[in-house]
Amino acid sequence: MHGRCSNSVTDAILNGRFKVKAFKKTFDLQNMSEKLKLRWNGHACFEISGSRTIIVDPFLEGNPKATRKKEDVRADIVVVTHGHEDHVGDALYIAKKNNAPIVTMVELAWLLKEKDNSLEIHDINYSGSVSIGKVKITAVPAYHSSSYGGKYAGNPGGMIIEMDGRVLYHAGDTGIFMDMELIGRMYHPEVAMLPIGGHYTMSPKEAAMAVGMIKPQLAIPMHFSTFPPIEQNPEEFKKEVEANSAGKVKIMSIDQTIEV
Ligand SMILES: [Zn+2]
Ligand SMILES: [Zn+2]
Repeated sequence: MHGRCSNSVTDAILNGRFKVKAFKKTFDLQNMSEKLKLRWNGHACFEISGSRTIIVDPFLEGNPKATRKKEDVRADIVVVTHGHEDHVGDALYIAKKNNAPIVTMVELAWLLKEKDNSLEIHDINYSGSVSIGKVKITAVPAYHSSSYGGKYAGNPGGMIIEMDGRVLYHAGDTGIFMDMELIGRMYHPEVAMLPIGGHYTMSPKEAAMAVGMIKPQLAIPMHFSTFPPIEQNPEEFKKEVEANSAGKVKIMSIDQTIEV
């Protein structure tokens, strides 16, 4: 529907100006948001820094491979994919210390709220999002299970994290599933953090096939070699991905920070 005045010269000029402004704004935003910093703390824990800092699945204390101390983490948002202890980890401590909200799946949000009612906890479910400032977090399915402190914790999730015009996908713990293709088509993540440890999740072979469905520009293996059952060689994942798709793999070392 066009308004009564839409044919006027003034309106045309205004519309024209508006479009130029809108375009410029988008362009500026892209320029501003060229790089994010991505730090791996081992297992499934990443710190993603742009205009805000997000920590995902902060399993630090009790992780035999982690050197990052929970006391040293500065985060604006804490994201937890599911209730298992190797993912919730130090989430409550870090959220409290940093006065940071937690974003997680619905039933786990309730359980965490029972632990500390003073925290700001956002409960989302599949295809649902929450926006905190300029950061948007969307839950997507994960084929796995979820419990916390011996209680059923609802469905586990993967998380799509959008910040500064960039899109990242943290798959949480998951087996492979066909709807990963939909995740790729829907959100176009540039970076995908995928579990490759086997035993509880995908192994390198499944994770490499997942990359073919998600089609990120960069895939980063996680959730391997923390404990004996999930011992894996990430080079196998890299070899398999790079032989079968245009995607690149970055094998991070623990405590490494890269720009993405
Ligand atoms: Zn798990
Ligand atoms: Zn796990």
